Amino acid sequence: AAEEGFDIEDVEGALQEAGHGPLPVLAVVGRPNVGKSTLVNRIIGRREAVVEDKPGVTRDRVTYEAEWAGRRFKVVDTGGWEQDVLGIDASVAAQAEYAIEACDAVVFVVDAKVGATDTDEAVVRLLRKAGKPVVLCANKVDGQSGESDAASLWSLGLGYPHPVSSLHGRGTGDMLDAVLEALPEAPEQRFGTVVGGPRRIALIGRPNVGKSSLLNKVAKEDRVVVNEMAGTTRDPVDELIQLGGVTWKFIDTAGIRKKVHLQQGADYYASLRTAAAVEKAEVAVILIDTTEQISVQDQRIITMAVEAGRAIVIAYNKWDNLDEERRYYLEREIETEMQQVAWAPRVNVSALTGRHMEKLVPAIETALAGWETRIPTGRLNAFLGEVVAAHPHPVRGGKQPRILFGTQAGSKPPRFVLFASGFLEHGYRRFIERRLREEFGFEGTPIHISVRVRE
Ligand code: GDP
Ligand code: GDP
Repeated sequence: AAEEGFDIEDVEGALQEAGHGPLPVLAVVGRPNVGKSTLVNRIIGRREAVVEDKPGVTRDRVTYEAEWAGRRFKVVDTGGWEQDVLGIDASVAAQAEYAIEACDAVVFVVDAKVGATDTDEAVVRLLRKAGKPVVLCANKVDGQSGESDAASLWSLGLGYPHPVSSLHGRGTGDMLDAVLEALPEAPEQRFGTVVGGPRRIALIGRPNVGKSSLLNKVAKEDRVVVNEMAGTTRDPVDELIQLGGVTWKFIDTAGIRKKVHLQQGADYYASLRTAAAVEKAEVAVILIDTTEQISVQDQRIITMAVEAGRAIVIAYNKWDNLDEERRYYLEREIETEMQQVAWAPRVNVSALTGRHMEKLVPAIETALAGWETRIPTGRLNAFLGEVVAAHPHPVRGGKQPRILFGTQAGSKPPRFVLFASGFLEHGYRRFIERRLREEFGFEGTPIHISVRVRE
């Protein structure tokens, strides 16, 4: 009776769709102006990645969701890095480094009209070292006549150079088929290979919030595990640190400790690294500098972690440096600006004095517990039945959509599918989410709710 109106394939399909774990990540790498952003736009089928014409424009958004032939994956546009910041070689090296750290497969874009340059060859060496699958895109092959240019890129030793016109769409479908073959079903290299390995923490926040101070503080609080535990990591930028008797893996500590002094583009590079760290982590500890106004940049970082579906802890840092007036305004800012993570555990810390450092680990554990929560279907439906009886959906056009039943399709973060007799309004979905949180907690985790409407 619970499944009235839905056949079992509907339900299984919905569960599969909603229950997917972390999506595999594709990086689009190449020299400036080869057409990376144009290609990313083509892949995601939107104008969202926007080809920038102003040099030095900071782009915070680097990761997009895409779908091809029914499979979903993430695309990372490394095209926002300005070549004049560090020079071409350093800029593509940074991209390749990113690809090595955080991706499951790489599309390497070469301008077929120009042919392989020394920089291209250097990137090939970096990519080869990384050992990730690479699909070679011979771009700007706008017509038949360009095919021979593409063929000359066999010389790079990366296999078939897919002739593509990112501008007009020519050849992109065939190339994407090859990309799907290269992408693992689940991003296993970053997840699940080490069952029971240390939990992965990304320490993130805009520059100068105190990330490296906090890292140094927590590393000092207890013993820093210098030698990597055998088989737990191949990544020298991550660090194992014992806190509260438990070993944690801090992601990309090299990026936190290394101070990059750059005028332009540093923000972009930082957000690329942040995105990479978030992809690899299970929980993001987001630092906020309480002595300054909560900014758009803070919000973007928070959005990045929420959209990636990570467990989240908010650490309000520099608490030692707050006077009463600032504190008054801070609490008001938190109320208005931090709405999107109102469910995240909060710690008020000082990386300088060590204030409340001992509260960090319990907050992280709480967030991870919320992130992993599974609600048995019976319990969920008993709850939904009560909620719907007490607060039915408003009548619209003489009809009243009803939630027929629901199930949790996945966790990390929790994903729910509700089956309904009609379209559920946004406000009602929000209400259901709020009630779910009241009932089951889900502290420190985003939750996803998708609705299936019976045709
Ligand atoms: P990025 O710096 O690698 O991200 O390169 P962009 O995507 O910004 O593209 C650089 C320039 O090459 C832009 O003027 C694009 O319009 C152009 N472009 C990109 N793809 C193609 C293509 O397939 N054919 C042609 N003719 N031009 C292209
Ligand atoms: P990062 O760029 O996020 O790694 O920030 P840093 O750790 O380099 O810190 C930036 C500045 O803020 C440095 O001058 C730190 O000494 C200072 N700072 C960091 N944490 C605190 C804190 O808790 N209290 C105070 N008063 N200053 C702090």
